Amino acid sequence: MAEENNKKQSNFIKQIIDEDLAGGRFDRVHTRFPPEPNGYLHIGHAKSICLNFGLAEEYNGKCNLRFDDTNPLKEDREYIDAIIEDVHWLGFDWEDRLFFASDYFEQMYQYAVQLIKMGKAYVDDLSAEEIKEYRGTLTKPGKESPYRNRSVEENLDLFERMRKGEFKDGEKVLRAKIDMKSGNLNMRDPVMYRIIHASHPRTGNKWCIYPMYDWAHGLEDSIERITHSICTLEFEDHRPLYDWFLDQLGVFHPRQIEFARLNLTYTVMSKRKLLRLVEEGYVSGWDDPRMPTIAGMRRRGYSPEAIRDFADRIGVAKANSVVDFALLEHCVRDDLNKRAERRMVVLNPLKVIIDNYPDDQVEELEAENNPEDANAGTRTVPFSKIIYIEREDFREEAPRKWFRLAPGKEVRLKHAYYITCNEVIKDENGQIVELHCTYDPQSRGGWTQDGRKVKGTLHWVSAAQAIPVEVRLYEHLFLKENPEEVEEGQDFTANINPNSLKIIKTALAEPGLKEAKPGQRFQFLRQGYFCADLKDHSAEHPVFNRTVTLRDSWARIEKKLK
Ligand code: ATP
Ligand code: MG
Repeated sequence: MAEENNKKQSNFIKQIIDEDLAGGRFDRVHTRFPPEPNGYLHIGHAKSICLNFGLAEEYNGKCNLRFDDTNPLKEDREYIDAIIEDVHWLGFDWEDRLFFASDYFEQMYQYAVQLIKMGKAYVDDLSAEEIKEYRGTLTKPGKESPYRNRSVEENLDLFERMRKGEFKDGEKVLRAKIDMKSGNLNMRDPVMYRIIHASHPRTGNKWCIYPMYDWAHGLEDSIERITHSICTLEFEDHRPLYDWFLDQLGVFHPRQIEFARLNLTYTVMSKRKLLRLVEEGYVSGWDDPRMPTIAGMRRRGYSPEAIRDFADRIGVAKANSVVDFALLEHCVRDDLNKRAERRMVVLNPLKVIIDNYPDDQVEELEAENNPEDANAGTRTVPFSKIIYIEREDFREEAPRKWFRLAPGKEVRLKHAYYITCNEVIKDENGQIVELHCTYDPQSRGGWTQDGRKVKGTLHWVSAAQAIPVEVRLYEHLFLKENPEEVEEGQDFTANINPNSLKIIKTALAEPGLKEAKPGQRFQFLRQGYFCADLKDHSAEHPVFNRTVTLRDSWARIEKKLK
């Protein structure tokens, strides 16, 4: 199959790795996934995880999980635990290689001292605003700080005192001494350390100076002897700086390769924005099933297999683009179709009385669990005189080509019998309250010897045995394909879809769903794939999230493209 081929297909990253191995630059492949624990992982991170762990697997190499925990102001233990859970759940294993950038703080400090001694770094007293102003722009060269030419001795002394806590936040920084006129703004004496008197989740109050990302990141890769440091495109302009640091220090030098980050329609991906959605109450938390987080998708019912398949299909590229959300949903359906057992649940019930069915009889009818999987076996569902069908499946005045139930029409009840509608009962407001039907006892199992045609097949539940369940239906969290497309003065929250969550409290399910376990996935016939909620579901109060509908818009899009 096409997907199988894709997996082994080459891409520009593998070509670079192949060249490095053939040319002898490296004799092994060692990658890493380096999240900052300042939020939950999202589907974009999943792409990076699949890529980094996938390459290690393919080249018989290794992949580290490393927390880039260099900013104590934004980072939290909760995020560390969630990230560990999510990467494991996706199906990847870092063995004993779980690392923290904060474990390298002492070594980074020593490297900084080394640069100071070489005359390549200095302590600056300019304020943050002044540094920004002195930095210049793309068209205007930067200006050198008046503190730039402090002696090595003075810099060593001041840097040590910075570490000891003698100065307040923002009073001093350590900067690399490179070139204030460089065409690359990243090379204009970037800040390496800033003073933050804050407790760190792992190092506590041991440090009050913290390394900047651009100083720390390349060193972390070097210390772990990462061969291929794979990152997103926005770091391309930072590469000369990472190269400069590593070359000055003469330490192990990984190769950095940049690829385009994943963007998805109807989705915001930056952690800063996801945090706003959580903090401002637009969603119930990081794991809200509408969130593009791995925790949210897990709760929604997406499988790790589907997410990994998605990552394979989108591949890696050097140019930014936006992937259609429908492709992700297509991967989810594709996977769940093969393994989700079928069940019958009526969301909006309409009572049907089968007049010619014996009053107290209950039949246990056999129903296949999954037509796509011969090993999935069968179950039984009770059938009796009073059943419920979906209100939507009945029309008093049926339009042309209406194959569902209507007065005088015959339909098939899935796994059961043919029924014909004879009478519609309404209340004083004209609302339909029940239907009277007759069944054909010869049609048990859904066919008759005379071979007469019945086009519509409806799902149903038996009234006496059905159990009430709560069903949560979701739409995209944003109304626009590009949530950032807003009027002046608005931000992405203006595009939030007010109908992204619909809670259905009327639903009735076949009794076997009593046994559903949190996280278990099903196809509810004709309604979509559903997952028992990981947090709120219990046998007493069953709750199912709709993972995805059955309609595959991607298949249509793909057809059009061909
Ligand atoms: P965000 O911008 O969403 O806040 P980030 O890049 O700040 O994400 P990190 O924790 O620093 O988040 O990211 C860890 C790794 O995941 C990095 O290597 C980063 O390049 C990668 N990554 C983040 N977002 C995406 C994305 N949308 N597509 C692919 N890779 C991503
Ligand atoms: Mg980041």
